[in-house]
Amino acid sequence: MDAQVLSSEPLSSRVWGAIRDFIFPPVCLVCEKDTDGAPICDDCLALIQPIERGFCQLCGQPLGRKRRSYICPECVRKPLALARVRAWARFTHPLDKLVYAFKYARYSRLARFFARRLALVVQSDGLLGSADAIIPIPLHLSKRWWRGYNQSELLARELSSQTGIGMLDCIKRRRVTRTQTRLTPEQRRANVEGAFSIRRGVDPLLLAGRKVILLDDVITSGSTLDEAAEVLLDAGAETVYGLTVGGAWIAR
Ligand SMILES: [Zn+2]
Ligand SMILES: [Zn+2]
Repeated sequence: MDAQVLSSEPLSSRVWGAIRDFIFPPVCLVCEKDTDGAPICDDCLALIQPIERGFCQLCGQPLGRKRRSYICPECVRKPLALARVRAWARFTHPLDKLVYAFKYARYSRLARFFARRLALVVQSDGLLGSADAIIPIPLHLSKRWWRGYNQSELLARELSSQTGIGMLDCIKRRRVTRTQTRLTPEQRRANVEGAFSIRRGVDPLLLAGRKVILLDDVITSGSTLDEAAEVLLDAGAETVYGLTVGGAWIAR
């Protein structure tokens, strides 16, 4: 990938991460028990449910242990623009707590922790493993400024260094969207419609004919990933995959 686009993390942001890790000693972010530096203790980690088999080959939702290859009724009825979505684990306790911590307080060790898990998902998946670039779902500039970072971008950077797949920070959010939690499927689609565009100045050749992975923290209805995928396909991307830390699939 183009070195200009594979931007390195700003120094201020790395320094802040180190200070935070220093001020907040290594305790489990779920139960606050001391750890050896890991963001989660072994007991809490054991409660997380990774999705390793028996998932829908298109949207990634778990469908039962017995089936190895399957497409869920929702994907038959309303396929996503994404060729495949994979989520590391079910978005239930205590993963929801970790993702929340990552979203609202910057923990660089969480970025590394999640990236290690996601790297294994990518490397074990024949399709995602062959992707050319990792693209983080952007925050609106106003939100990014307020938080000081975009968690998907931090994660994309870590994942890129662990998989060797370049990060391409090529989409932007054109407007602030509402939190999707309480919206109906129709409202979710309307909420994100036209929310993304390709950043100005991005060389179209970086996307033309490429297979790319869109990265976000959680998939629910898939409407955010789907909207961003449409923008990338319109810009010439050949295939768009989705990758998230957690999955809590709901009707779309
Ligand atoms: Zn714990
Ligand atoms: Zn599905």
